[in-house]
Amino acid sequence: MGDFSLFTRRFAPMIRALMEESLVLLKPDCLEGRKCGEVLKRFEEANFEVYGVKMMRLSDEILQEHYSHLTDLPFFPEIQGFMQSSPVVAIALRGENAITRIREMVGPTDSTVAQKGTLRGDFGQDKMKNVVHASDSVENGQAELNRFFAEDELFS
Ligand code: ADP
Repeated sequence: MGDFSLFTRRFAPMIRALMEESLVLLKPDCLEGRKCGEVLKRFEEANFEVYGVKMMRLSDEILQEHYSHLTDLPFFPEIQGFMQSSPVVAIALRGENAITRIREMVGPTDSTVAQKGTLRGDFGQDKMKNVVHASDSVENGQAELNRFFAEDELFS
């Protein structure tokens, strides 16, 4: 017991420093394929903590902000149509090195080249229907969490 509290006091600040937060969106193909439980189970088994969750329809405004790096591309209307074809589930996740580790679990954008064992490799269909979104940097994670969740919808 004494050893444990010494360990906690010494290392807790370092462990806290490694904690990162990510927005994960379960996309319409994930809901349609009934994979929400499986996806969440994988994140929880990888020791990520859920600290916010909600189901929502994405407005034009939130999608344009979220995919601002894609709005000029010719296939943006298709992506928008897909992302608005049903509600999505937004999840706030945190854990050690969350950004990198979650992106590894998700796999590359194109599901057809994603390794088996990744979420997109196991459940994705193509470049667009690829199951989940996950934040790609700590900074974007914070911006996306603020975009999708009100302060009182996140729990410490
Ligand atoms: P990621 O989601 O892997 O971070 P991007 O930010 O580049 O990838 O793209 C956002 C989303 O837009 C993708 O997850 C996918 O749903 C869609 N998308 C990206 N590129 C294409 C493409 N070439 N064709 C169709 N949909 C695409």
